[in-house]
Amino acid sequence: MSVSVSVDAETNVVGLIGHPVEHSMSPAMHNAAFKELGLNYVYLAFDVPPERLEGAVRGAADLGIVGLNVTIPHKEAVMELCDELDRDAELTGAVNTVRFSRGKIEGFNTDGEGFLRALQEETDFDPRGTKSVILGAGGAARAVSFKLATEGADEIVIANRTVSRAERLAEELREKVGVKARAIGLDGDEIERELQDADLLVDATPVGMYPNENEPPLVTADQMREDLIVNDLVYNPPKTRLLEEAEKAGAVPVSGVGMLVYQGALAFELWTGEEAPVDVMREAVLEHLQ
Ligand code: NAP
Repeated sequence: MSVSVSVDAETNVVGLIGHPVEHSMSPAMHNAAFKELGLNYVYLAFDVPPERLEGAVRGAADLGIVGLNVTIPHKEAVMELCDELDRDAELTGAVNTVRFSRGKIEGFNTDGEGFLRALQEETDFDPRGTKSVILGAGGAARAVSFKLATEGADEIVIANRTVSRAERLAEELREKVGVKARAIGLDGDEIERELQDADLLVDATPVGMYPNENEPPLVTADQMREDLIVNDLVYNPPKTRLLEEAEKAGAVPVSGVGMLVYQGALAFELWTGEEAPVDVMREAVLEHLQ
């Protein structure tokens, strides 16, 4: 679906920079939100190769663009261009939202907060005192694990294909936040043991993502406890095979669509100062995914 917005000489511009960007849900999600609130904004997607990043960001600031979402492969490199970083960007070492404000480039990371808000909208999860098992040690796993840690989690287990990467993340979590954090591989028995007393399982790998939606999930129903919350960060398809396994186990399945919507809603609020219409944004994403 494409949302038509009317553009005039006073239209505020926001957008996405990444490489590639053509499959992004963000233009549909944000333009639907601007239309809903009657805001004179337009959201565009800009395909920017790494060697053009600095020129694109400084040019955007000079053009009076209000702000940008930042995606692969620029989330780390854009930090160098920011004059100020929020705590989540600093902790995770990545920026997914930029705001140009009074000559300054401000960098934020809304992924972790978006993850938590979405999870709390769908479940009664409270991170304080909990144990989580996170599959993956990339950008999404970093955002999620630092958010859980700073919100009072007791224990975080990072399970990753490349164990040395999980070890580095666990060490950072221990050193920067002081949470109990350990690294393991993707061995099924070990994951099952860790899940025995875990409250939350987050899959922060692309396993099961379109067009590989039939790929076997990393964890199956027989390894899950009944009251485990299982949050797959993959949002396409909205119901992954991992979430089907969670249903089979009587566990609590949570789709990645909510995190996508809330990380966008937080960026929307940083740029416009208005409360984001999350239901309209979710509808736009779900329509776009069909
Ligand atoms: P990333 O930085 O590239 O990290 C990918 C992680 O997945 C790495 O830990 C990698 O392990 C692991 N991995 C990749 N392929 C695997 C496989 N076949 N089997 C086992 N592990 C595998 O990616 P990311 O940015 O963190 O994104 C990860 C997923 O989260 C993507 O599906 C993305 O769409 C989703 N995501 C969703 C949202 C949302 O709003 N819902 C936001 C951000 C990301 P190695 O270290 O061994 O390579």
